[in-house]
Amino acid sequence: MVNVLINGYGSIGKRVADAVSMQDDMKVVGVTKTKPDFEARLAVEKGYKLFVAIPDKERVKLFEDAGIPVEGTILDIIEDVDIVVDGAPKKIGKQNLENIYKPHKVKAILQGGEKAKDVEDNFNALWSYDRCYGKDYVRVVSCNTTGLCRILYAINSVADIKKARVVLVRRAADPNDDKRGPVNAIVPNPVTVPSHHGPDVVSVVPEFEGKIVTSAVIVPTTLMHQHTLMVEVENNVSRDEVLESIEKTPRIITVKYEDGFTSTAQIIEYGRDLGRLRYDINELVVWEESVNVVDNEIFLMQAVHQESIVIPENIDCIRTMLQLEEDKFKSIEKTNKAMGIK
Ligand code: NAD
Repeated sequence: MVNVLINGYGSIGKRVADAVSMQDDMKVVGVTKTKPDFEARLAVEKGYKLFVAIPDKERVKLFEDAGIPVEGTILDIIEDVDIVVDGAPKKIGKQNLENIYKPHKVKAILQGGEKAKDVEDNFNALWSYDRCYGKDYVRVVSCNTTGLCRILYAINSVADIKKARVVLVRRAADPNDDKRGPVNAIVPNPVTVPSHHGPDVVSVVPEFEGKIVTSAVIVPTTLMHQHTLMVEVENNVSRDEVLESIEKTPRIITVKYEDGFTSTAQIIEYGRDLGRLRYDINELVVWEESVNVVDNEIFLMQAVHQESIVIPENIDCIRTMLQLEEDKFKSIEKTNKAMGIK
């Protein structure tokens, strides 16, 4: 049983904490919060030991004044953990890496908001599990990149990829985010093409250098991202072969428009009806009818639940960094089974 600390109990952090708790080879020894809000209170009620993320007496007092019991600050637990999963906001993860994890010689996983160059390696379970084995500082790539890595793995298993072009339609904010927009606009973001998503895939799969071009817009929705892919391949491949490979690839599900999966709203409704915790859809979702092959070019549409797609990746990343399992498929299967992933 290895000891995991979740530093930053937000959208990603609280999901990783719950996913770690479902495994039989790792346990949560603590979670951290910066503010004594309802999430902090709920963490304690769920049985997690709560630590204050910022090592400062005044901060601790804020929690005490709010009547939320804390065990101390992050510095009181950091030496006792085998690995930290950082769930802090974009750019703070890097600061935590330099100021806390490295000085205390603790392994750490950063999230997709951080830069590829600031860590030793970049993780997706299908592509870089072996490469990250035993490493100390690894980044689990963003939700969009994770979705792209999974689908490109499925396509790469049946065809040699010549060039992938992807248009990403990104959700404006997470459902709990009351500060971001747009409320009524389509925003090219970034306006430059290619967007940063292609290079992010290359940070996981270096052989795709020069082969993936992406562009992205942000739209007023909170539920999911949507991607349209156009992938030129070297060899002849049939639609059935592509679909079969997609269906065989872990953590991808196909859905049919004609079955009622007419939008991301219906996919989320499916998550609700399945009774998934927080209606999470950890799987990449591909619309079956959208898969087509025209003259050695594969077309498809997919949806990414931004808050949850990276959660099982964090679990596998813990396993490979701590050398708990050598075989990526065994780790993926173990994680999926424990989390009820299809
Ligand atoms: P969030 O804002 O929901 O949660 C961040 C948490 O970190 C909050 O609880 C905040 O109080 C806490 N925090 C603030 N300062 C801290 C510090 N110094 N040390 C420790 N904790 C601190 O953010 P999120 O959406 O969970 O994003 C976290 C990371 O995951 C980012 O890198 C983000 O880019 C990445 N990510 C987010 C999503 C998503 O859709 N939400 C998807 C994939 C990856």
